[in-house]
Amino acid sequence: MSQTALLAALKSIVGEANLLTAAADMETYINEERGLFRGSPLAVARPGTTEEVSEVVAACAAAGVAIVPQGGNTGLVGGGLADGEVIVATGRLNRIRSLNPEDFTMTVEAGCVLEDIRNAAERADRLFPLSLGAQGSCQIGGNISTNVGGINTLRYGTARDNILGLEVVLPDGRIWNGLRALTKDNTGYSLRNLFVGAEGTLGIVTAAVLKLYPKPVQMETAFCALESPEAALELLARARRASGDQVAAFELICRDGVRQSVTYLEGVTDPLDAEYPWYVLTEFTSANPEEPLRDTFEGFLGDALEDGVILDAVLAESLEQRRSLWRIREELPEAEKYEGGSIKHDISVPVRSIPEFIRRATAAVLEFMPGSLPVPFGHAGDGNIHFNVTQPKGMPVEEFFTHWHPMSRIVYDIVDELNGSFSAEHGVGRFKIEYLERYRPEVELDMMRRIKAALDPQNTMNPGALFGPPLE
Ligand SMILES: Cc1cc2nc3c(=O)[nH]c(=O)nc-3n(C[C@H](O)[C@H](O)[C@H](O)COP(=O)(O)OP(=O)(O)OC[C@H]3O[C@@H](n4cnc5c(N)ncnc54)[C@H](O)[C@@H]3O)c2cc1C
Repeated sequence: MSQTALLAALKSIVGEANLLTAAADMETYINEERGLFRGSPLAVARPGTTEEVSEVVAACAAAGVAIVPQGGNTGLVGGGLADGEVIVATGRLNRIRSLNPEDFTMTVEAGCVLEDIRNAAERADRLFPLSLGAQGSCQIGGNISTNVGGINTLRYGTARDNILGLEVVLPDGRIWNGLRALTKDNTGYSLRNLFVGAEGTLGIVTAAVLKLYPKPVQMETAFCALESPEAALELLARARRASGDQVAAFELICRDGVRQSVTYLEGVTDPLDAEYPWYVLTEFTSANPEEPLRDTFEGFLGDALEDGVILDAVLAESLEQRRSLWRIREELPEAEKYEGGSIKHDISVPVRSIPEFIRRATAAVLEFMPGSLPVPFGHAGDGNIHFNVTQPKGMPVEEFFTHWHPMSRIVYDIVDELNGSFSAEHGVGRFKIEYLERYRPEVELDMMRRIKAALDPQNTMNPGALFGPPLE
């Protein structure tokens, strides 16, 4: 089938308004948030039903044209980037098919925006726990395909831990209905887990059964000052014990991170009177209105202060104050931009190795590039540190970014020595392909390639991600 014939076929499947081919119409699907990557797709198809997705995929397969699935396009590793492929955008698959408070599940289509899902659960007195800075625009299909983490992973796990069933359109166009709302289902291989984190390389997720939880009705938040990451680990262990493992968030931030947020973000101020080397933003929550959560929280902080584990702390006295404490952490990537380019490393190591990682990576980066500024922060409760490095003052940003991969190799070598991961949250996409090959054993890569070949023998499902040629 010629390209012209394929485009005509796609138009008849999704309707004229939902097949975009003009560059201006495709802009939001091409551009990535930070302007690091830019794609050039053949077209963008916007199917409105699973059946339409299936027909689009079958038509592309028949024409031998590859597909890139795309949700909210907030991914940070170029996984949704298309180069001659047809982007299948899931934004019109946005229905909540059912919500069952009694069995704590909801079934949603892939294009539902994460925030809308959270709000719908909340209206039913339930919690859907995935939460991240991009939740106003990322979609659940993208969250599943990147196995998203976010701020509540410590308590509720990643996307993988919160998915019970999936509906997927396979690379040949067949629909797999695995929408079973079952916690227990030991009937052979766990196929749904293949698609979670597959970054669109094995099929298009069109719907999912999500796990819900009782809605928290109490929330206690504190911003604590500490001497070191070692003290943060001691605080984490105490928090888990004192709360009966009800720590919803535990975010570590270095002084320079706090300085960047309070200097550049409008309305954000330093909640403490003095400056300290490290900070932890932590939160306990409870779904039980009778539980004396405030007493537990104050007791935990008081003991930590008395024992010298923390140096000072501020407790949020209102939702507004909680919001402003969270802005220091959540909007930090935005604040970083005011000091120029930032080279990002989204890594994880065993929790106990966080201090060693930060110490060694900081020293190695400063030796590699004197004048640069490591700004480590992140979900320390999960061992996940965003080891971001701000450029040296006065260096042109383009020049700084030419050092991205050489610097990353230095950081990732340390991560590897500590048995960590070079991509804790964001995935591999196209940007980190060389690291997958460098840091994963051949037997692991071989298993992945065999799974890919079995499900997508024509290599038409997001061929550039995971196994494609590394981006220049
Ligand atoms: C401000 C900000 C904060 C962020 N915070 C976090 C964070 O805390 N934790 C975290 O893990 N990530 C975070 N991210 C990264 C990003 O938001 C997540 O990776 C998100 O899950 C991507 O969802 P999306 O709908 O935008 O997917 P997209 O960017 O559209 O796609 C991402 C990948 O998934 C594939 N894909 C998308 N939809 C489907 C589908 N239906 N079926 C099959 N494949 C599909 C794409 O092909 C691509 O490979 C953040 C990003 C930003 C911009």
